[in-house]
Amino acid sequence: MELRQDGPGALAVDLATDWMGAAVVGLGGKVVASIRRDESLCNTNPEKVVVDLGGLVRPLLAGLENGPRIVAIGVSVPGLVRSEDGHVLEAPALGWRDIPIGRLIREEFEDLNVPVFVGNDADLAASAEHLRGSGRGTSDFICIWGEGGLGAGIVVDGRLLGGSAGYAGEVGHVTIDPDGDLCHCGARGCLESVVGEEALLRRSGRDPLGGTLALEDLIAAANRGDKVALAALAESGRGLGIGIAGLVNIFNPNRVSLGGLYARVYPYVRAPILRELEKRAMPAPRAMVDLVTVRLGSNALLLGAAELALAPLLSDPAIMPLQQEPAPSYANDAPETLTSRASTLLAEG
Ligand SMILES: [Zn+2]
Repeated sequence: MELRQDGPGALAVDLATDWMGAAVVGLGGKVVASIRRDESLCNTNPEKVVVDLGGLVRPLLAGLENGPRIVAIGVSVPGLVRSEDGHVLEAPALGWRDIPIGRLIREEFEDLNVPVFVGNDADLAASAEHLRGSGRGTSDFICIWGEGGLGAGIVVDGRLLGGSAGYAGEVGHVTIDPDGDLCHCGARGCLESVVGEEALLRRSGRDPLGGTLALEDLIAAANRGDKVALAALAESGRGLGIGIAGLVNIFNPNRVSLGGLYARVYPYVRAPILRELEKRAMPAPRAMVDLVTVRLGSNALLLGAAELALAPLLSDPAIMPLQQEPAPSYANDAPETLTSRASTLLAEG
């Protein structure tokens, strides 16, 4: 069955460390149009980022003829997001602290008159992968997402683990080396500071803030058999394996999926990760878990953001606005609605 082209859809936004991206996504996860601009968002002014986003997205929306009607905006941010109102408490990899990104984006797109929902990148990737990608059919699934920072979306018994305010899953800030390097979060020796993008690039002799280009250069060097590149990747794999072994022992997942930069370097980190799992995960949960990479690629974040935005509509189609009326303003609603949203998000998996 073909979904109606002019049905409801979401504007999905991905604010990553090395780019900003956006897509118009219809029901069923159909990407109708997308755009991405590669540029570092590290330590940039959030107000400017949102204005730039407006400049990027306007032509995309203007070019949509007979496309979906945008009924909500979903936003992915690599940081701690308060699910209640889309406030970013902390996005260490972007250098952001206490940013009302949901409100800023709602103001930028005021004319659309639609609600804005903001989620953590790893959580959104895990939701999308659980629904349509590498986590389909699993009850307990973990998606490790690394782009700049490092986090995990954790699905327990079919539901995304949020914690009491939506901050759960910050696996990147679990200490694995008490005397290690200072992390963006202020602590020492976090998993992210040992195996994250910056650590990987630094260890390979590249600019830690070199972003996508430096990473591509590193992968090309590894493909040529460059010993320094291979050793840096193996070290990241080892650290990642230590972290994943802990997650396997705690959550007993059916599957762990690697996304973002870890999907791109998977051929080089797979063996060291598996070695650490053999050494450190308990045999029974270890025997049950598969290690895979994400299937939706970098689209996982946009699809997850779209699902977050459209979930209230899917859970209650009666709130679907009529064509001529402005969209309802059900943004930043009560926590119980958000809980049902998260469960709806995962219910189709
Ligand atoms: Zn940290």
